[in-house]
Amino acid sequence: PAPNGSSHHLSSIVRKKLMGYVGFANLPNQVHRKSIRKGFQFTCMVVGESGLGKSTLINTLFNTTLYPARPSPDPAVERPKTVAIESISADIEESTVRLRLTVVDTPGFGDFVNNDESWKPIVENIEARFDAYLEQENRVNRQKMVDNRVHACLYFIQPTGHALKQIDIEFMRRLHTKVNLIPIIAKADTLTDEEVQNFKRRVLADIEHHNIRIFQAPVYENEDEETLAEHEAITTKIPFAVVGSNSELELEDGRVIRGRSYPWGVVEVDNEEHCDFVKLRQMLIRTHMEELREHTNNVLYENYRSDKLLGMGVTQDHSVFREVNPAAKTAEERTLHEAKLSKMEAEMKMVFQQKVQEKEAKLKQSEEELYARHREMKEALEKQRAELEDKKRRLESGRPLTPEKASQTKKKGFLRT
Ligand code: GDP
Repeated sequence: PAPNGSSHHLSSIVRKKLMGYVGFANLPNQVHRKSIRKGFQFTCMVVGESGLGKSTLINTLFNTTLYPARPSPDPAVERPKTVAIESISADIEESTVRLRLTVVDTPGFGDFVNNDESWKPIVENIEARFDAYLEQENRVNRQKMVDNRVHACLYFIQPTGHALKQIDIEFMRRLHTKVNLIPIIAKADTLTDEEVQNFKRRVLADIEHHNIRIFQAPVYENEDEETLAEHEAITTKIPFAVVGSNSELELEDGRVIRGRSYPWGVVEVDNEEHCDFVKLRQMLIRTHMEELREHTNNVLYENYRSDKLLGMGVTQDHSVFREVNPAAKTAEERTLHEAKLSKMEAEMKMVFQQKVQEKEAKLKQSEEELYARHREMKEALEKQRAELEDKKRRLESGRPLTPEKASQTKKKGFLRT
């Protein structure tokens, strides 16, 4: 079964050549050296209505045609009625740093007449990936942990210039505790600079109003000024207004750039004056990939894990609570907390027991092996002894010994004089 537990999950892995510098070679500077040899796993999810430029942006980000051009849907073929989850993995290498990049696409999101539950299969997929990781953690042999958890979710907002739509708010509200949300204003070249600024303000206001937590890179103490400035330059751009393009254009001044050409001019993807693509890539790949991975592991996954245990405790103890005085809230909370603790303890015990059992099985096996070896050796010795006895008997009863042999035998104490 697919490690993420999703039934309608398509997955393929390809080896990809990069067309230019991408920037994840900086990862070893973001983390401890030992990870270099193992390589890195990074999973990025893209969500947004179709046609917002998701595949184009992923290809632009990693400078590779990870995403093949999707054929436009054939109207004669009936389209599925639910959001699908598809993933593509690529092993890419830059300056000897290996990255297993997985992009999880969610085709169908927001494309139906009724999109009320569009978020649901996505939450389920993210949780299935958490479960798969949890299951590995509980295994005794944790040498080869595969991390298929989603480390970042690029959420594409339609460049309407107005405000967030209900589907955007619903999605982010449902997902913000499960995944690092990175909101993106798609196809920013369709808005003027002023429209982009106003739209950003409104989007941020909506996000705040609904208490949605988007990914915030942590600021550490004693950070040097340069890093702080870089951090500030990135965070003030959120939500990133991006333009994607996979075609190279030659400008009149001879420069070759990635961009989109219009009658009124050219929008350059890699030009910070034109859009926030560079800052998005900076955060996602060059400076904060490790933060995204860490936050996923230490906060999002950890919360999921303990909530899951707490959930088990609550449902189990519910009948008890209903009978007690509802005013005894603190007592109830304490009981809940204790239930959570004992659940965790039980889980730990289970893992421990499992480990002990495996260890015991191993010991037993080596014990049996030892016995077998012992038996073999004993038999061999027995046989040798019988042979020696036999020889001795023949010597004693029969032929006289040569003086040399006699002295040898004497030394060994076989011959009484
Ligand atoms: P997806 O369905 O979200 O994966 O969207 P695609 O990446 O397939 O892009 C849909 C269409 O939008 C294509 O014709 C792209 O060329 C175009 N497109 C992609 N990115 C941009 C962008 O930043 N600006 C504009 N104006 N068009 C874009």
